[in-house]
Amino acid sequence: MGLFWRRKSGDEFVRLGLNEPAKPTEAPAVDTQQQRAEQVPESPSLVPPASGGAPTPIPVEKVQHQVEKPQARADSETSNPVREKPVASRSPFATSVLGLNLSMEELKAQEEALEQEFSARFRRAVAATRESLSERLDTVFAGRKQIDEELLDQLEEVLIAADIGVNTTLAVLETVRHGIARKQINDLDALKTALKSELLGILKASEREGIASETTVAESVSPYVMMIVGVNGVGKTTTIGKLAQRIKAEGNDVLICAADTFRAAASDQLAIWADRTGVPLIQQKPGTDPAAVLFDSLKAAKARGSDVLIVDTAGRLHNKSNLMAELEKMKRVAAREVDGAPHETLLVVDAVTGQNGLEQARQFLKVAGVTGIVLTKLDGTAKGGIAVAIAKELSLPIRYAGIGEKVDDLVVFDPEQYVNSLFGN
Ligand code: GDP
Repeated sequence: MGLFWRRKSGDEFVRLGLNEPAKPTEAPAVDTQQQRAEQVPESPSLVPPASGGAPTPIPVEKVQHQVEKPQARADSETSNPVREKPVASRSPFATSVLGLNLSMEELKAQEEALEQEFSARFRRAVAATRESLSERLDTVFAGRKQIDEELLDQLEEVLIAADIGVNTTLAVLETVRHGIARKQINDLDALKTALKSELLGILKASEREGIASETTVAESVSPYVMMIVGVNGVGKTTTIGKLAQRIKAEGNDVLICAADTFRAAASDQLAIWADRTGVPLIQQKPGTDPAAVLFDSLKAAKARGSDVLIVDTAGRLHNKSNLMAELEKMKRVAAREVDGAPHETLLVVDAVTGQNGLEQARQFLKVAGVTGIVLTKLDGTAKGGIAVAIAKELSLPIRYAGIGEKVDDLVVFDPEQYVNSLFGN
């Protein structure tokens, strides 16, 4: 599996780069009042949020001392309330990022150990789904020697109960029936193998459709902009914290943009995650135009030489036309500032909400130009089959899975690992 976030080539993982020229400092565009008015009409004055729960913003002068990279800021950016509070990383990746005291072999061993650990945690996260699925399959298969229509009907019920979804289940069973008719599936073992390979096929096919990956964007394009969308409560903020932590832990400079200005609480929560992970955050007063916050974040990211900008967005679906206009405006602003941005738009879906979550996801697809899914709370359900329904019905790859509430509880979703974990090998 290798690196969690792969935009940097493998050998940069341990390269010091002492003989390389410093990253060029990008002079921010001249920001005349007229230009700014055209770009973001409602751009407000930049002041720290009036929230009680958030940590006190650190004055910019202090932040500039803490930031190692050379910077040049336009006047508008120097007033950004950038929060930066370096904290010791609690991530197990911290040692594998620099690893300057380790040999290549030791680094590889460390990486493998980490992968094994994540693999074990992923298995544990889908344990409830696995147990429920295998229990039901055992009941269906018990005492049977051959495959008949009754067995296939019961299998249909089992797959639907695991939240694989009616359409997906019917499609899977149709293929299985063909296999039986062609005598390719003759016994229960072959049936189980065919089932696994069908589910894997669906997940893999979704990876070929619409995938946006950091590897497809040239390293010269910076920052890599990730927009995170989804309804409130699905785990968007937590996912942003987890992503920031892991991408940072692999040696990238990360910045978070708090563009859900609709809910003050969202911004406060994000500030807590930013502090926890030691990643700076750009935020403004509640009610500020999200596109304006994004504009300032993009400017700040460029001035800092940030590798990645993670953008939180509002999650209120009840006001869809506003949300659509808001997201479209944000996309326009991003594309104007950085080539091809946003490079990735991740829709966060809560596995626990099952088919309802799928319906919400469909609504978002219409407005947000989603390129991939983050499936959260996979650890909190026995109906983890929803991953297959999502891949099939939304035709979108699942990029990451949330497997707990802690900062390290996020994994790159691996279809093979998922299917093997569900079927117990
Ligand atoms: P938001 O409203 O979409 O930003 O949602 P939050 O990030 O605030 O998360 C809502 C709740 O879901 C919080 O209690 C999180 O701890 C919890 N949560 C988020 N991701 C996961 C996950 O992968 N597993 C579990 N068990 N809980 C999660």
